[in-house]
Formats: sequence, C-alpha cells, structure tokens
Amino acid sequence: MNKTIFQKIIDREIPAKIAHEDEHCIAILDINPQAPVHVLVIPKQPIARVTEADASDQPVLGHLLLSAAAVAKKLGLGQSGFRLVINNGRDGGETVPHLHVHVLGGRPLGWPPG
Ligand code: AMP
Repeated sequence: MNKTIFQKIIDREIPAKIAHEDEHCIAILDINPQAPVHVLVIPKQPIARVTEADASDQPVLGHLLLSAAAVAKKLGLGQSGFRLVINNGRDGGETVPHLHVHVLGGRPLGWPPG
C-alpha cells in the first residue's frame, strides 16, 4: 500500500514543521493554514479515518484528543479558545486517509462551517 503524506512525515521521508512529538503522535503545522494557528495532530498508528477505528484504538484516540488540547495550550490558545476538527470521508472533506485532528485558532471561527 502506498504511504500517505503523513506517514512519510512520520517516517522523516519528507519535512514538516513539528509542534509536538511523542511515542504515539506527531503534531505538525498545516501547509495550507486556515487560521493563524493550524496544527494537525496525527497518530503514528496509521488509522485511515475515525470510522475505521475500533475498540482497540481507544487509548490512541484518547491520547490524540489530550495531545490536541495540550498543543493548543502550548501554542497560546488556552484562554482565547480553539476548534478541533476531524474530517471523515468525502462529504466530511477528508483529503488524507490517515486520521488527524485539526487544531484551529488565533481568530474567531464562524459556525456552522460552510
Ligand atoms: P483533511 O482535508 O482533513 O484530510 O486535511 C488534510 C490537511 O493536510 C489539509 O489541511 C492540508 O493542508 C494538510 N497537508 C497536506 N499536505 C501537507 C504537508 N505536506 N504538510 C502539512 N500539512 C499538509
């Protein structure tokens, strides 16, 4: 199976700006930011999307959310607020089939999304 762009970043085959890394996940700056802060928190375990996760992935999924919140706080969004987004499938806007949480902040974010 072809590696996704995120797997290549995890494997250090292509560069990225890394905001955080630990045993289970990596957080990188989005290459096409939609807000002043736009980070992607990516599990090292290559789950394609949240609908492909199962009960055995629960620790990884929990770690992903906690890491997203920690990264948001580290980048100064703890007081002002931020949004976490997971795009799932075609209508969800998923373009990279390797699960990732978008952390968006640094400006007021509209709701609902267009
Ligand atoms: P999604 O549409 O939810 O699958 O999000 C994929 C995200 O990955 C988009 O916001 C892209 O801008 C971002 N992206 C794609 N390639 C790279 C890359 N090489 N480095 C950082 N972010 C990337």
